[in-house]
Amino acid sequence: MKIRSLRLRTVVQLLALLTLMLAAFCWVMFLVIRDRVDADVDQLVYDKAIISGLSLNSINPAWVKNDPRNWESRRYAIMGQTFDTNWNVLYRSPRMASPIEPTERARREMRHAQGWLIETVEAANGELFRVATVAARLEVDKPTHGFAQVGVSLRDRDREIWRFVSWMIGGSVLVLAAGGLAAVHLGAQWSAPLGVMGQAAESVDPRNLSRQRIVAPPDVPEVTPLVVAFNSLLDRLEGMQSAQQRFVADASHELRTPLTILRGEIEVALRRDRPASEYRMTLESCREEIEALSRLVDGLLVLARCDGGDQRSAPARGDLGRAAREVCERLLPQATERRIEMVVDALATVWVPLDDASLDRLLLNLVDNALRHSSPGERVWVQVTEEQGASVLRVVDQGIGISAEHQSRIFDRFYRVDSGRSREGGGTGLGLAIVKALVESRGGTVKLRSEIGKGSEFTVSWPACENSVGSK
Ligand code: ADP
Repeated sequence: MKIRSLRLRTVVQLLALLTLMLAAFCWVMFLVIRDRVDADVDQLVYDKAIISGLSLNSINPAWVKNDPRNWESRRYAIMGQTFDTNWNVLYRSPRMASPIEPTERARREMRHAQGWLIETVEAANGELFRVATVAARLEVDKPTHGFAQVGVSLRDRDREIWRFVSWMIGGSVLVLAAGGLAAVHLGAQWSAPLGVMGQAAESVDPRNLSRQRIVAPPDVPEVTPLVVAFNSLLDRLEGMQSAQQRFVADASHELRTPLTILRGEIEVALRRDRPASEYRMTLESCREEIEALSRLVDGLLVLARCDGGDQRSAPARGDLGRAAREVCERLLPQATERRIEMVVDALATVWVPLDDASLDRLLLNLVDNALRHSSPGERVWVQVTEEQGASVLRVVDQGIGISAEHQSRIFDRFYRVDSGRSREGGGTGLGLAIVKALVESRGGTVKLRSEIGKGSEFTVSWPACENSVGSK
């Protein structure tokens, strides 16, 4: 299961890490403690067995001095017994519920000079004991005058180990609880700036993005990049919003002009009865305005589609070479009428990622512009070629050119260098904006090189297209 809350995830991860570390620590400690307790028990039974051996009377072992302190220990219940040299029991401590018989091994070992042994022995009732056996001698080289055995139940030893272990477990639980609380507190502290940012982001009013920016908390530099990224997103959104508002205002203005003209002409025509020829003239003028309106609405539609990503989603392919030849053929009468020479230099087939209708529109806009801004006797050159794998369209004219001041804005929507002249010529101010939107929506670029009085060169290019086939 995936935990969605960052805070909860941090707490769970910290606790899991802490639990793992504590478990490893407790395991190591358990091994150390078990070792230590084992050594302690062995030392205790050995010491007590030595003392018990000393309590045996060397002249007559039967005279046992039964000092109860021999069998005392603060932590363990100690059982002991003493034997004469024939292993007859002389004394057995009262705590010994079930007798422990000396093992064969113990009897054998006691014959050696050192004469002591610590082993684990099973009592008659099945209980396990750690037992030390010592041979009682006055001195090392003197004969043995008896044996002493002292034992501690392994149950006692285990209880002692578990006493330590339960302390460790208790301590670990406390550490875990403290760690959990600390993790919850730290998680809250870490996520607080994000919460503050979230609230600030929530409070941004999308209708008025200007001057609504988030301020990064000064003491948490980690969130600064996030705040910067968010603010830059707001900047871009604000830019897009104002461009959108400008566009709508411009579009309304552009639509209103022909509508006003239409209304004016109709009102004048209706003011009194007129001959049929006058009505015809008015209707023809109205048709021209309606055609201008249609062109404008078509342009707006294309731009809206490009903005909405339509061009990007529809997989399309068109032949740039064909489009160039056909469009130039269509515009040839216009060029001839204005005595402008038109040269088409296009490869047979150059595939680009735009459908045929969009390619026709793009070429029509560029070549029509070139013709409209050229003078009689000048030349318009349309080239379609492939350069380093890229598909390239060039529309070059020797016309009036565009000044540097206008070049940067020429592709803006409704931008015209000479507004009056452009309208008269049927221009909507959307031609180059449409070219740019169509080309860029398919990963292409448009470049302009122009000089006043010398002409303009529009270069459109698309990076290598997989299906591109070029031949003259
Ligand atoms: P329109 O449809 O009004 O011509 P465009 O977007 O096609 O609008 O062009 C914008 C402006 O760019 C036009 O007003 C025109 O002055 C200028 N322009 C476009 N093409 C050329 C060119 N080849 N030579 C000189 N000026 C041009």
